[in-house]
Amino acid sequence: MASPTRSTPSCSRVFAHAPTERFIRHRCRLSALRAEPGDGRAGPVRARAVGCDRRVGRRGLTLDRGPSELFHGRGRHVKRLLAFDLDGTLAESKQPLGDQMAASLSALLTIAMVAVISGGDWPQLEKQVVSRLRRDVRLDRLFIMPTTGAKLFRFSQGAWRQVYAQNFSSTERERILAALDQAVAEARLETDQLWGPRVEDRGSQITFSALGQAAPLDAKKAWDPDMSRRQALQQQLSAALPDLSVKIGGSTSIDITRPGIDKAFAIARLVEHAGVSREEILFLGDAIYPGGNDEPVRATGVDSIRVRDPAETVAIVDALVAWER
Ligand SMILES: [Mg+2]
Repeated sequence: MASPTRSTPSCSRVFAHAPTERFIRHRCRLSALRAEPGDGRAGPVRARAVGCDRRVGRRGLTLDRGPSELFHGRGRHVKRLLAFDLDGTLAESKQPLGDQMAASLSALLTIAMVAVISGGDWPQLEKQVVSRLRRDVRLDRLFIMPTTGAKLFRFSQGAWRQVYAQNFSSTERERILAALDQAVAEARLETDQLWGPRVEDRGSQITFSALGQAAPLDAKKAWDPDMSRRQALQQQLSAALPDLSVKIGGSTSIDITRPGIDKAFAIARLVEHAGVSREEILFLGDAIYPGGNDEPVRATGVDSIRVRDPAETVAIVDALVAWER
């Protein structure tokens, strides 16, 4: 598939200070934002935009450009919860959060609830996200949603606890593994070089990683740069498992879940467990395009921003935090 076209996102939003509901209004042009250390006059963060150079001040940032194809928003609403995809959005594939991202999310937790939704299972999210956050941040505001929201973990009474989990039956599991074997053989995806097991059973999700679970980033990025291999595999598995959901996950992976367990399902559970409305959620993900595993969020009508990479996510989070302070 051809790479989706990019243009300059812009938005006119209201971002909330949760839970006190203190808010500021801002208009922002997000894709071009690059947060930099403040100069002491304009506030803690200065945002630089391509084509125009204005600062984030204490009362917010005004940058005006045309409507965006990347910001999928429908109205002005107070945002109380920011939900993020993980791989490609908060961190590189399967890598821990960078220092800057960990600091930015910690700051964000002082003003809003935060959710991380990923195809990975809890041990993976614990390693990539939870272990990177200091224990003294507002962990009670964090919603960790492994296996695309089929599980939810929250921090309470000093420990991380599973709130719910929706797992496959043994019959479903056997059918999926058989379909994967056949699809891999037919697509001629056998390879001599594998980094760890290709199939990971996460209880509520089975993930196929073409190069193995522990493949290095470079090899993964080079494996399917135009997404054609994953799309072919997705189509074949969808035909073999018509009653299940088959989605492209990371750069080499396919996620299989029960139907309806996608990021839209995760958003619905968030609404339930966080006590927020859909209008109060802002979602950031790198795969908001047809076939991408973040696309179902857009279909729910939740305001969403497609980011290019974790660096862009940091810039957006830092700008939102700076506006709020
Ligand atoms: Mg992603």
